[in-house]
Amino acid sequence: MASSKPAVRHPSHNHPLRGHKAQAEEEIICSGCDLDLIGAAFKCTKSECDYFLHKSCFELPRENRHKSHPEHPLTLLYSPTYESSAFACDACGEYGSGFSYNCSICKYDVHVGCVSMPETVERQGYAHLLTLLYRSPYQNGLFFNCDECHDNVPDNLWSYYCKKCDYGTHLHSCAVEEEPKRGGGGSGNTSRNSGGRSSAASEFGLICNVESSKGDGEDAD
Ligand SMILES: [Zn+2]
Ligand SMILES: [Zn+2]
Ligand SMILES: [Zn+2]
Ligand SMILES: [Zn+2]
Ligand SMILES: [Zn+2]
Ligand SMILES: [Zn+2]
Repeated sequence: MASSKPAVRHPSHNHPLRGHKAQAEEEIICSGCDLDLIGAAFKCTKSECDYFLHKSCFELPRENRHKSHPEHPLTLLYSPTYESSAFACDACGEYGSGFSYNCSICKYDVHVGCVSMPETVERQGYAHLLTLLYRSPYQNGLFFNCDECHDNVPDNLWSYYCKKCDYGTHLHSCAVEEEPKRGGGGSGNTSRNSGGRSSAASEFGLICNVESSKGDGEDAD
């Protein structure tokens, strides 16, 4: 296969990589963030090697000062340093084995995909923006249950929340249908076919139930 694109190096991988435009049909998973990869990407030049990176993952800064962890800068790790070679994400609660932003002092680990979640999300048909919180909406000892999937959102995990309506969801799936588009790909078809994180959330009608306010969240702002 002749390609004119120059090979580049990335410290996460010991073979050279080359620019690649990933098509949905290829069903590629990014080796960095473990999410579906469509659009601008880098691909290992060795044909027997299945290493791919989003362009955005390729370009992640080595150090990240993030609002979720103001105490210390976070460092990009290409694979977890824990004995299990996995980490539990302090944002979404799920495990990861690819890239993470890590604070070794606090053993704070976040998926690179979680770090880049937008501070507010809007959804079609939903009146209010949901705001990203670096914890569950309730900090007064009450359990907060996700208003979409009805599972608990543990106190330390991130959530999306509308204070007006006392409406909130888990970080993923429940609030946003698709991860933000990373660099426009050509095809409009972005349907997800791997039963990943957002499988259950595909067609939720998100309704902001303004009229049925859930009790005493009445402190005005
Ligand atoms: Zn990626
Ligand atoms: Zn390789
Ligand atoms: Zn995560
Ligand atoms: Zn720290
Ligand atoms: Zn949920
Ligand atoms: Zn609302």
